Amino acid sequence: MAHDPIPELIARVYERHRDCDEGEVATYIPELCKADPDGFGICVVTADGRVYEVGDCDVPFTIQSISKPFVYGMALEDHGREEVLRRVGVEPTGEAFNSIVLDEATMRPFNPMVNAGAIATAALVGGASPPDRIARVLGRFGAAAGRELSIDQEVFASELATGHRNRAIAHLMLNFGMIPGDVDGILDLYFRQCSILVNCRDLATMAATLANVGTNPTTGQDVFRVDCVKDVLAVMFTCGMYDFSGEWAFRVGVPAKSGVAGGVLAVVNRQLGIGIWSPRLDARGNSVRGIRACVEIADELGLHAFDVMNYGSTFLRTLVRDP
Ligand code: GLN
Repeated sequence: MAHDPIPELIARVYERHRDCDEGEVATYIPELCKADPDGFGICVVTADGRVYEVGDCDVPFTIQSISKPFVYGMALEDHGREEVLRRVGVEPTGEAFNSIVLDEATMRPFNPMVNAGAIATAALVGGASPPDRIARVLGRFGAAAGRELSIDQEVFASELATGHRNRAIAHLMLNFGMIPGDVDGILDLYFRQCSILVNCRDLATMAATLANVGTNPTTGQDVFRVDCVKDVLAVMFTCGMYDFSGEWAFRVGVPAKSGVAGGVLAVVNRQLGIGIWSPRLDARGNSVRGIRACVEIADELGLHAFDVMNYGSTFLRTLVRDP
């Protein structure tokens, strides 16, 4: 039997952080404060479809900002790289996820992983009508997760009722001609994409679909175009963890995205996807236990892009190694 280090590793990481109660559950979207602060799950799905999980991997939570890279991928497919680049840059901001800032030279939002850029990206999702656009997003996310997904209507209503800051950002971009006139329709899609319900296993499977260059390894379905996956991962690598992105690249060294409901998704190219859920957030809006668990998993398996142990498929070779 080949030696498989993953089950023992994720169980150990889970136990080590299980009792950590640092950080706060997000409350600025009122519905999010109903989350169980102690909830914690870790799931790993390999690029050849093996699934490993520990903790609360069935508990649903809203995907929030982890929707951003996937919608960016759809915009790239629908409009092509150059057209999307005219509307949204690919430069890290070093600012908070909800900062009201545009590139002064071009008036573009800096990148698609912060709210401004994600709202501009939502405006680029193709479709005949607003319901058609959200149906496309839901369908594509479901294909990446390997099961049908739905929207949490309470969270959506809560974001719609209180998302004044996002509305301000959208109007600022409208003022500079970076989004078309239908601000309400664009925000409707943005708030709905953030309110899609997933669990840890879904996140890990979506991550594994990116790791497997666009094909869901558990269903075999082709979900994203290969060239767009490359662009999505590049932007996740530099911008996915907001103003922690530089430190994340330093410590973990793989493309990742977090969301304010406590999800973290990390992609190890050609190897595996990681999905973690733990709702207590640090001051930057990243899951406290999510970050710690990823740092340890990446360290132990040598997953960092520049780790001397990472030859591109170290992990898969570890699995097939004779004992
Ligand atoms: N829906 C949230 C917002 O727009 C998403 C933010 C996040 O997950 N960081 O504020």
